[in-house]
Amino acid sequence: MQLNEVKSNMLGLSPTQPTLVWQCFQKSGQQKAEQPQSDRQSDSKLLRAIVCAACKHPITDESQRLEVAGRHHHTFFNPAGILFEIGCFAQAPGCQNTGEPSDEFSWFPGSSWRYSFCKNCQSHLGWQFLSPVSSPFWALVQNRLSEP
Ligand SMILES: [Zn+2]
Repeated sequence: MQLNEVKSNMLGLSPTQPTLVWQCFQKSGQQKAEQPQSDRQSDSKLLRAIVCAACKHPITDESQRLEVAGRHHHTFFNPAGILFEIGCFAQAPGCQNTGEPSDEFSWFPGSSWRYSFCKNCQSHLGWQFLSPVSSPFWALVQNRLSEP
């Protein structure tokens, strides 16, 4: 019964329903045996943590590094001409994701984005990308993260 509910939720996905996307991602994540469990309660127990460069709050960890469009590391300019070197992560439980998803100037076609801030100090760390056809991911600016 639960699986059917998940499937019907997935069909109803849209970029304007980020909460629903997040919930589905949490459920599907539990089915991947090779991935370590990572939920909100494990914020302080991340393996090989990657932390906020400003305040050392745990943001994600090495096991969440993700390849998007064939690469983990990407270099992009924003519309203001500022260069960002980013890494992609499957989960970033230390981020607070805010704002309405936008598809303007999206670096990853088909995905909309919203801002991701450090939950502890509110530094802007990167962006969460949401897609109606795949799990959300995070593109985090490399020099705003560090290892403890
Ligand atoms: Zn911080």
